[in-house]
Amino acid sequence: MKTTTRVAVIGGGVVGCSVLYHLTKLGWSDVMLIERSELTSGSTWHAAGGFHTLNGDTNMAALQGYTINLYKELEEITGMSCGLHHVGGVTLADNQERFDMLLAERAKHRYMGLETEIVGPEEIRKIAPVTNIDGILGALYDPLDGHLDPSGTTHAYAKAARMGGASIETHCKVEETNQRPDGTWDVVTNKGTIHAEHIVNAGGLWAREVGAMAGAYLPLHPMEHQYIVTDDIPQIMEMDGEHPHVMDPAGESYLRQEGRGLCIGFYEQPCRPWAVDGTPWDFGHELLPDDYDKIEDSIAFAYKRFPVLETAGIKSVIHGPFTFAPDGNPLVGPVPGLRNYWSACGVMAGFSQGGGVGLMLAQWMIEGETERDVTAMDVARFGPWITKGYTLPKVIENYQKRFSVSYPNEELPAARPHRTTPMYDTFTKMGAVWGQQFGLEVANYFAVGDEPAFETPSFRRSNAFDATRREVEAVRAHVGINELQNFGKFEVTGSGARAWLDRIMAGRIPVPGRVSLTPMLSPKGRLMGDFTVSCLSEDWFQLTASYGYQTIHHRWFEQHNQEGVSVRNVSDRMTGFQIAGPKSAQIVNALAPELAEMRFMDVKMITLGSVDCIVQRLSYTGDLGYEIYCDPMDQRRLWTTLWSEGKQHGMTLFGMRAMMSLRLDKFFGSWLSEFSPDYTAAETGMDRFISFKKNTDFIGRAAAEHERASPPTRQLCAFEVDAQTADVVAYEPVWIDGEVQGFCTSGGYSHHARKSIAQALIPRALAQEGLVVEIEILGQMRKATLITEALFDADGARMRG
Ligand SMILES: Cc1cc2nc3c(=O)[nH]c(=O)nc-3n(C[C@H](O)[C@H](O)[C@H](O)COP(=O)(O)OP(=O)(O)OC[C@H]3O[C@@H](n4cnc5c(N)ncnc54)[C@H](O)[C@@H]3O)c2cc1C
Repeated sequence: MKTTTRVAVIGGGVVGCSVLYHLTKLGWSDVMLIERSELTSGSTWHAAGGFHTLNGDTNMAALQGYTINLYKELEEITGMSCGLHHVGGVTLADNQERFDMLLAERAKHRYMGLETEIVGPEEIRKIAPVTNIDGILGALYDPLDGHLDPSGTTHAYAKAARMGGASIETHCKVEETNQRPDGTWDVVTNKGTIHAEHIVNAGGLWAREVGAMAGAYLPLHPMEHQYIVTDDIPQIMEMDGEHPHVMDPAGESYLRQEGRGLCIGFYEQPCRPWAVDGTPWDFGHELLPDDYDKIEDSIAFAYKRFPVLETAGIKSVIHGPFTFAPDGNPLVGPVPGLRNYWSACGVMAGFSQGGGVGLMLAQWMIEGETERDVTAMDVARFGPWITKGYTLPKVIENYQKRFSVSYPNEELPAARPHRTTPMYDTFTKMGAVWGQQFGLEVANYFAVGDEPAFETPSFRRSNAFDATRREVEAVRAHVGINELQNFGKFEVTGSGARAWLDRIMAGRIPVPGRVSLTPMLSPKGRLMGDFTVSCLSEDWFQLTASYGYQTIHHRWFEQHNQEGVSVRNVSDRMTGFQIAGPKSAQIVNALAPELAEMRFMDVKMITLGSVDCIVQRLSYTGDLGYEIYCDPMDQRRLWTTLWSEGKQHGMTLFGMRAMMSLRLDKFFGSWLSEFSPDYTAAETGMDRFISFKKNTDFIGRAAAEHERASPPTRQLCAFEVDAQTADVVAYEPVWIDGEVQGFCTSGGYSHHARKSIAQALIPRALAQEGLVVEIEILGQMRKATLITEALFDADGARMRG
């Protein structure tokens, strides 16, 4: 056995083997995999082996496409069979909402180059003849859907990795992982200790236990899952070709041909978590006892949808556990707080996602960044707030909703409220309708009078439309107030703070008392953040950015740390309020006359009432406004002070729905919509905040200079959309001259301008005022016109004050 290695991958399931293969593919051959038993000894051996591209997250869908296309490559490299059956598949819709979801997915697939299509009931009958189409409106057909041999595929990954120089040690159990002071690891196994520069935790069913060896909590949980294989079925035996896959979300089932019979699995509501107190080390190649009670209702439904099942005998039942993260996506990437420790676990669809996970992780480890935005699977998308008690109900919820329609405005109820600010009870009494961001309760809107206390999930304009309009109008006409709890905030202090910020951020770092906006770039010039930097004194800065991205940002800061600088994540240690609208200055000036002097983009420390605050003169609403930060212990006091003065000026509470409408009036971008690691500064207009004048080799400078010299081919633009009841959400295709030439990054309804607005990336050469395009929203072509003038305060006079 090797005793030193650059990378020790722990776990020989499909995911560990894919990671190992991709490391060699990208050039690292001094890598090894350690498996406590034989390869495939976790969830992998008993998987149904199905694969598909459908995923609510566009980047995940693209990586699933990559995984599926990889199998041919693996077969060619190794000469081994993955047992591929590219039979295609249909996902059924039995109601309008489900059909809307499929239409939206189909639209996204257009610019991703995926050849899916919407088919009607009669075509479904032809494609998938065992389906009873009663009540079915249509389906999404995906020719890429299929299944494979789980064990053969895992061994093909392993062989390809070995051919690239990797070694694999089976019957070798990792018992401890101990970090040396230089950041490398001693991997202690029952066969001896291996010294590794990096560890990858691909422990699957045991990933929790493997993580705990390094002191890490990985938020995942195993769930029991069952599928049934039938005896031969005459109707299947008579078919010319192989029967395609059928996903029936209404019945929470997936079905495919197995031999000359069928195989059907269920995501049943009375589901059961497995091994709540930890996965036993002696669990291996056994299955869980059959449990028909749990799937009784699902089977009854399946008999109606697939009548041939009713008379089919059962050949075998496979009942085994596999792991889920709280949102069902994998947990991949550098584990926050640990050096050289990487996660590749929580992969609930190893045969749809394993290839993409392996590729992204290998790029991250070898090249320092991934080629696309992987936020949806980044292990740091959860923060230190996540606990076992939160993970378990969320995993159950995710399992139960696996086949449910997921709506863009939906707020899932499990494990809530989890984290709240001191305003929670007060705002609840004032009608707050809560959403959740990064574990924290955030008011979406405030229901007044008979406005709805629950926002109905929908792909169309929701029942919160009127309440949102009322809040928007109050801000634009008078003044609105909302909480500032959901900004990520960092305190940067020390004698080297300015120099560090100049290196980390691409933009100008402000002088004391001033605020600036700046992109943060990766070495390849992709956006890593859009920051507001406030200089409180020469060695004290406050950064604000996305709340949900705070752990990812903090990890980045730690990776680029420097002596003489301290960076503290104070996201939950600083809270406060934003007040915005024409009357906001009157309120602030009445409470602290010295604030009357504040100019746009000034920052000042001041006592408001009895509370010490940091006040910034800017607002994401694009209006005259102030951000007022304080210690959470002082927040209620500050609220009383602001509200009692504000009421005299017609102050109204507003929530995130109104905020996202207000920002559209000025075409302000939003993190992970307009601005994300998928895009560069010049593509999104963020390059206007880059300081090419500064004498610093900031991260991403060379890439940004290159873009400056030869501008990218696409450009972010705003459109007024001729929409009726449904606005752009994200990723809708933009058709120009009968071809898909762009896609939307986000959109919504501007209640102020009473217009539907979209932002989209389109070819730079076509980006001219007045360009007329079509945007496909829920299967309907909507005319849209490119606009460049802001819908409110176009000259910025009101915002600047
Ligand atoms: C009934 C069922 C049906 C399924 N159907 C499908 C399907 O159709 N399509 C699909 O894509 N997915 C399916 N899945 C899910 C799929 O099985 C998983 O996504 C996949 O197997 C996860 O692979 P993994 O490599 O992450 O984990 P695992 O397969 O659990 O592998 C982890 C490996 O790590 C090893 N290990 C753990 N700890 C140590 C240690 N300390 N030292 C050394 N080695 C260690 C284990 O022995 C094991 O071999 C199904 C799952 C079940 C249960």
